[in-house]
Amino acid sequence: MANLDTSIEPKNLAIVGAGIMGRCLAWRLSGYGHRITLFDKDSKNHGSAAAYTAAGMLAPFSELEAAEDNIFLLGQHSIALWRDWLKTWNAEDLMAESGTLVLAHRQDIGSLQNFNQQLEAKLNALANQQKEAALLSKQQLSEIEPELAQHFDQANFLKSEAYLDNHAVMDCMAKQLEAAGIRWRENGEISSVSDNQLVSDNGEEAFDHIFDCRGLGAKNDIQSLRAVRGEVLRVYSKEVRLRHMVRLMHPRYRLYLVPKPNHEYVLGATQIESEDYSPLSVRSALELLSALYTIHPGFAEARIVETQSNCRPALPDNQPLIKHGKGLSQINGLFRHGFLLAPALADITARLFHGESQENEELTILSQAIIDSLG
Ligand SMILES: Cc1cc2nc3c(=O)[nH]c(=O)nc-3n(C[C@H](O)[C@H](O)[C@H](O)COP(=O)(O)OP(=O)(O)OC[C@H]3O[C@@H](n4cnc5c(N)ncnc54)[C@H](O)[C@@H]3O)c2cc1C
Repeated sequence: MANLDTSIEPKNLAIVGAGIMGRCLAWRLSGYGHRITLFDKDSKNHGSAAAYTAAGMLAPFSELEAAEDNIFLLGQHSIALWRDWLKTWNAEDLMAESGTLVLAHRQDIGSLQNFNQQLEAKLNALANQQKEAALLSKQQLSEIEPELAQHFDQANFLKSEAYLDNHAVMDCMAKQLEAAGIRWRENGEISSVSDNQLVSDNGEEAFDHIFDCRGLGAKNDIQSLRAVRGEVLRVYSKEVRLRHMVRLMHPRYRLYLVPKPNHEYVLGATQIESEDYSPLSVRSALELLSALYTIHPGFAEARIVETQSNCRPALPDNQPLIKHGKGLSQINGLFRHGFLLAPALADITARLFHGESQENEELTILSQAIIDSLG
């Protein structure tokens, strides 16, 4: 179990939405003796959650280029929590802490240099002591990822980044939550969520507190929530053997590649301002696959095993938000960072709910910035 605190009065709690946010929160709240029910419109083993489309990257340094500082700081906290939780579940192999190689072709080397400068400036501003980015020569790259050194002269190595086998993590969490005594109500849409009350197929149900983690399913209640479409491809190649996440710096489109078990790679992702769940477009497929081929020509013989599109739940500032009220909390806006942020947001929400203080000063300041109170 995650915690064991008998000083807290047990409550009857509902978590609506068993995507990555709902699962992390359920885990973080387990062990206090609460009676927790987790609701989802889909089955516990698969569904439409954005978490199933995600690449599973935990990349706070790469994301810092275009994200606010708190994404970076919350991300660091989440990585520590993932490490801890996966150890508890005896599932450490679901996270690979092998780092990211940031690459650019010779003609785009300026983009790589810009990326490095921005990252360094942002880390300095954060007074981050960590010397993260290491510029690798061709020789050093060949020692780390020999197959890439044939096509790239240099790389930036972000050694502390990690990735999860996200499908396996979702499955593992379902099992762990059940073992922790959480009641799962699957395949049933919740038509309304309000203070202490929700409406399910069984009619109105009352709870001491409700946590709304429906992602884009909460759009009617959070007016400023918007959808940002993302498309990914999954390819299979026995010929190409890469161990690290790869990011390609390209002036027009950014591409990432994440190794998965059984010789598969997830390749992504587009970012389109639209609530559009239709299949992968030809344009996106052409751009992503062309970029893939330039990373490693061995991908020419890879097989496309799956294409997927989904939408990320985002707020106007692309920041997450915890809205906390007496009988209802809403946690949403995880945007491109669901796996990177969910454990930290679950931790902050659980502390808020139990009236506990944060672990350290930095997290206290951070929490204040993303917490809002419901009227
Ligand atoms: C292409 C793509 C790539 C991504 N890559 C990454 C990545 O590499 N790393 C990363 O950290 N993040 C990534 N993300 C972002 C991440 O997937 C999202 O931020 C995250 O999934 C949002 O989590 P959530 O739990 O809020 O929403 P979701 O994961 O969408 O879960 C919401 C859940 O609520 C349920 N639900 C909704 N409405 C109702 C209702 N009325 N009743 C009952 N249940 C309901 C849904 O069935 C679902 O299970 C990516 C996203 C996309 C689209």
